[in-house]
Amino acid sequence: MSKFCALYSGSSGNSMVVSSGGASLLVDAGVSCKAILTALQEREVELSGLQGILVTHEHIDHVRGLKVLLKKLHIPVYASAGTLNSLYQSQLVPADAELRVIAQPTEIAGMEVTPFATPHDAAGPLGFAITTSEGEKLGIATDLGHITQEVDQALCGCGTVVLEANYDEYSLRVGPYPQYLKQRISSNFGHLSNTNSAAECLRLVQKGARQIVLCHLSQENNTPSLAAEAITARLQQAGCLADRDYRLQVASRSKPSPVIRF
Ligand SMILES: [Zn+2]
Ligand SMILES: [Zn+2]
Repeated sequence: MSKFCALYSGSSGNSMVVSSGGASLLVDAGVSCKAILTALQEREVELSGLQGILVTHEHIDHVRGLKVLLKKLHIPVYASAGTLNSLYQSQLVPADAELRVIAQPTEIAGMEVTPFATPHDAAGPLGFAITTSEGEKLGIATDLGHITQEVDQALCGCGTVVLEANYDEYSLRVGPYPQYLKQRISSNFGHLSNTNSAAECLRLVQKGARQIVLCHLSQENNTPSLAAEAITARLQQAGCLADRDYRLQVASRSKPSPVIRF
């Protein structure tokens, strides 16, 4: 049995963990090292099984705790060349960190990790499709302005999908953010709205996804219930019912979400 847990998720910090066959991979380290270690312990993930950290991109909400964590754990970091370069230049990793470029399907911790490009305003942002040692497929796509063909292809066929639902369009429009930030978020290289996320969730459920985790919800421009309603309403229109055809989790911002088995 493979396990996934969104430890923290949202604009203030992101970190997730995937475990299979006694080995684990962390995806992003965007909260403090202490918060990550506490959350891993709470979710019964053995530190001795942690074999690497996949980093989606260098924005601080994905790497805030990375440097301290690496000083403690001495495990390799996998990301695109652009992300690794940015982390190194900004001293967001220790000088002696083991940095490994991931550009094609790579076996890490007994899992096959396939990176794919995501459209976001960072230096080589990635999503990951992970096939566990049991052959189960998990797709992670967070921080993306729109769904590209590459993203869609990578997520299609994943039984479990972790997808961003960043903002409710109306809340963003009438909310307190300055105009330039609203434009950045809603641009093709910003974040996914609930509506965009819902359209992709429908496609993926129709292609066989059975568990959806909505992640990276904006604190200002979204709520868990708005995001969940947008997705369930869109799927219901197409005849797909929650709990019958798929299960939905909205990842918590402030505490580890329940573990998903897949
Ligand atoms: Zn970002
Ligand atoms: Zn982010």
